[in-house]
Amino acid sequence: MSEKIDLRSMLPEELPALLKEHGIEAYRAKQIVSWLEKGARSFEEMTNLSKAHREKLSDLFEISNMKEADRLVSKIDGTRKYLFTLPDGEYVESVLLSYKHGYSVCLSTQVGCKMGCRFCASTKAGFCRNLSAGEILLQMVEITRDMRKEDESFRIGHVVLMGIGEPLDNYDNVLRFLKLCNHPNLFGIGYRNISLSTCGLIPQIRRLMQEDIPLTLSISLHASNAELRSELMPVNRTYPMEELLRTCKEYTKHTGRRISFEYAVIAGVNDTPARAKELIGLLGGWMNHLNLIPVNPTKETSFRPSDKKSMEAFVKTLEKGSLSVTVRRTLGTDIEAACGQLRREKQILTKE
Ligand code: SAH
Repeated sequence: MSEKIDLRSMLPEELPALLKEHGIEAYRAKQIVSWLEKGARSFEEMTNLSKAHREKLSDLFEISNMKEADRLVSKIDGTRKYLFTLPDGEYVESVLLSYKHGYSVCLSTQVGCKMGCRFCASTKAGFCRNLSAGEILLQMVEITRDMRKEDESFRIGHVVLMGIGEPLDNYDNVLRFLKLCNHPNLFGIGYRNISLSTCGLIPQIRRLMQEDIPLTLSISLHASNAELRSELMPVNRTYPMEELLRTCKEYTKHTGRRISFEYAVIAGVNDTPARAKELIGLLGGWMNHLNLIPVNPTKETSFRPSDKKSMEAFVKTLEKGSLSVTVRRTLGTDIEAACGQLRREKQILTKE
């Protein structure tokens, strides 16, 4: 990446001073933000600025961009999965999901992932780099641009950071992204409509707790005891489940926000009655929610989702234990909407 400051990563209120520092009138900031909000890809497009100004701006700054490399649209439910190419040739994936209450986007926060969860396709392709705040936002800009070709009133209602990468492993950029995404002059998405999912990086969860940002925190739990969790998620060896759950309780107490636990249900691995009882022991008696996701089979593992009967029995036991449980509807199964799979595919194709 170039050394120039990416204006997409700047908060609108930071722009005036930055422009002034370089001899450009502060009031130009408003014009620039409005162009960025509209999806401008270059300074040349900003036609209400003089040519001299546009040239000066492109000498001093940059506007990050990426190109759509592939787009898959589900025939079943309209889910759209985008594969974007970054200027350094790397790929990220983003998914647009359509619900009764509006559109939701699932964004990537890193190119690849270091966390090594065994069931996850994102990690198989290795870690390459963090995305900047502007690059995370750019996924929303590009999806909006694409959708507005068909529907001028298109608006993103919800944002979930559940694409490729571990958001809390890219803390500063993700925090900046949250502020950009929430900013009234950009997307104006309320923090309550933003979900951040983490595999459980305890120090960063503690930091987030102090930020006073009322987003929805999701924790990828996926196991009901420490031994199984360490097997499925190596991060558990660094940040053990017991301490993670203690931190979660503190988070809930401090923020008043209910945490959502993600649990990918894997046939014969974590879906037995004994596992359900362990889960009741962990999550019973305090404010939280358990979201069961039938595991999405990936090419590298033999993990399969539970059959209907086992899933129903699992849910029933959990409900009897008074847990608040839902089973996530899987969208876009015909287009491999689980993140990481498309990037991985592309990598395999490029290598062969
Ligand atoms: N790194 C973050 C967010 C990325 S993944 C995290 O770990 O939470 C978003 C969610 O999808 C996580 O809960 C992750 O564990 C889950 N996931 C990954 N691979 C999956 C698969 N094959 N089937 C079902 N869920 C999966």
